Amino acid sequence: MTNDARDRDLGMNRAITRRDFLNGVAIGIGGLALGSTLTGCGRLGASDSNPAQDRAGYNPPAGTGMRGDNAGSFEAAHGLRDGTFWQTAGTAAPTDGTYDLIVVGAGISGLAAAHFFRKQAGANARILILEAHDDFGGHAERKQLHAGNRLLLSYGAQSIESPSLYSAEAKGLLADVGVDVQKFYRYFDRNLFSSLKLGSGMFFDRETFGEDRLVAGFGKIPHREFFAKAPLSDAAHRDIVRLYTEKVDYLPGLTPEQKKAFLDKISYADFLTKIAKCTPEVVPVFQTRSHDLYGVGIDAISAFALHDEGDDYGYGYPGLDAMLGPSGDRGPHKPDPYIFHFPDGNASVARLLVRSFIPEAIPGHTMEDVVLAQADYSRLDRAPSPVRIRLNSTVVQVRHDGDPGSASNVEVTYTRNRQMFQVRGRRCVLACYNSMVPYLCPELPAQQKEALAYGVRTPLVYSHTAIRNWTSFQKLGVFQIAAPGCYHPYAAIDFPVSIGEYKYPSRPEEPMVVFMVRTPCQPGLSQREQHRVGHVELYDTPFETFERKIRDQLARMLGPGGFDPAQDIEGITIGRWAHGYAYGYNSLFDPDFAEGEAPNEVGRKPFGRIAIANSDAGAIAYMDTAINEAYRAVQELSHYRGT
Ligand SMILES: Cc1cc2nc3c(=O)[nH]c(=O)nc-3n(C[C@H](O)[C@H](O)[C@H](O)COP(=O)(O)OP(=O)(O)OC[C@H]3O[C@@H](n4cnc5c(N)ncnc54)[C@H](O)[C@@H]3O)c2cc1C
Repeated sequence: MTNDARDRDLGMNRAITRRDFLNGVAIGIGGLALGSTLTGCGRLGASDSNPAQDRAGYNPPAGTGMRGDNAGSFEAAHGLRDGTFWQTAGTAAPTDGTYDLIVVGAGISGLAAAHFFRKQAGANARILILEAHDDFGGHAERKQLHAGNRLLLSYGAQSIESPSLYSAEAKGLLADVGVDVQKFYRYFDRNLFSSLKLGSGMFFDRETFGEDRLVAGFGKIPHREFFAKAPLSDAAHRDIVRLYTEKVDYLPGLTPEQKKAFLDKISYADFLTKIAKCTPEVVPVFQTRSHDLYGVGIDAISAFALHDEGDDYGYGYPGLDAMLGPSGDRGPHKPDPYIFHFPDGNASVARLLVRSFIPEAIPGHTMEDVVLAQADYSRLDRAPSPVRIRLNSTVVQVRHDGDPGSASNVEVTYTRNRQMFQVRGRRCVLACYNSMVPYLCPELPAQQKEALAYGVRTPLVYSHTAIRNWTSFQKLGVFQIAAPGCYHPYAAIDFPVSIGEYKYPSRPEEPMVVFMVRTPCQPGLSQREQHRVGHVELYDTPFETFERKIRDQLARMLGPGGFDPAQDIEGITIGRWAHGYAYGYNSLFDPDFAEGEAPNEVGRKPFGRIAIANSDAGAIAYMDTAINEAYRAVQELSHYRGT
């Protein structure tokens, strides 16, 4: 079949709701004229006196196509990195008065910093939050798709992970904005999939395994039977079944501590072939299982770490229990079920925070009504509101207006719509990426800048595809599919959550969102190097490539269940996060840093009136870390209270 014919079968020529949210594009490329058919998107290159977020109809969550790092959100930062930005930057115009606090980055950490500062300084404290993206929330991004006649919500950051382990401050923040995590036990329907006899499947693709085959029933039918249905050699089948069913101590001569230390320094891939003596043919079955949590494959993560962190999707990392103890469903450190999920993920937490600052921007009062509340973006940055959120604004410089030890203000320069502005604050929290900070604050000590540049955030893509119905999933008996050899190694229908007026499409005949994850990487390199390669790949991959890959993969996995990509796909949103998860240290590649000497600890030290928040500062990619680091940063500035 020719490529054109295949594209036709996949429906590449069909109109779907995949239009980019063009305001984001506008901010980036400025100066072009925009076709008049796009309602509510304003005019490209309009002056900052009429910023995009103030224009009627501005609603980034409704944009499909390329989301996450929207065009316009990263070019200035890349110019700073490449040393080209200042050549054409022009002079910054002073704007606004002096704020009590300026926050760089409106992710969860930046919003949390504003929250904690208000608690400390009072609700009238003047706070400006500057954000490079076209929406607030950072990774906690809300997405709205339409299929049939209904609205389908989807997400960036997915869920509140193990809230029982949250710190007092993080629990307090959730309570302050009205999140009662206990309610998810009612809102998340944990019986729906089993009542429909849907379980976990694996898709074996022809490029990796010789033929396309979906096998259903992982964990339900015996592993011997399940893997007998897969296109695997006898040796691979035998070894995988052994891993899953036999509790073998592969390190009999070592003490428990020695076993742990040994398994912490060997990749799971090497464990499989060198220690458990499996045929190398088993490696492709597991290679991408770690992509979603780590952004790299099992070649680059230790056996101990994978056992310790577990696999959220329940496929597991077999073969280790006899040496390390049972890892449980999702690893030994995640006591709570994975149910704390708003339909738009942690974006609801971001929206509740924004509502608490600027009630008129997000109407309503409860964690239930926030789910469908329509945000009025034109309210985010308006006097006399004490808290203002300015989107599409990339901060390019943060410096004291004198000696950092005695200065009374911080000057923050940002670019928006290709114009430069400068604003003053009594103090500043940098809740942006650590790696960005040395470019913003060249006056920081060299050792601190080096430490801030150490971690490399994980590039990853969360794609959401709206489909007309999910009968194919039902016919095939799966709600989630691990596809170890595919472009997207994991796909699943949405979490069964109904909150307030938002009802989950629980009948297979209803429209549904399919979630798929991709993390670009290059086995053979260290984790940080793989992430660097992945960054480049993400920025170089156009929407069309993602669309073709999604259509092709869904067709091949679900075709036997009647899925037709040309007819059934109604919308696609690509959540491109080149700077995704905060970097967590990797025992295979990073030294064992002494307490207080890890790069994140060295890097996050306060500098005069500037403090550093963000999940990077905790080197852990979870929402509670983002909140905890915000709390610390605000505390560090508290001795400037009243000054
Ligand atoms: C796809 C994905 C899924 C995730 N799922 C989960 C999950 O299920 N549960 C969980 O707990 N965590 C999850 N995470 C981890 C997530 O990173 C944290 O939970 C948290 O949202 C991070 O918040 P943050 O504020 O530290 O960083 P970010 O969300 O990255 O926010 C930083 C913000 O700073 C802005 N910024 C950067 N530089 C500048 C600048 N120069 N000027 C202005 N603004 C700037 C960025 O645009 C960004 O909005 C996920 C992450 C990703 C990428």
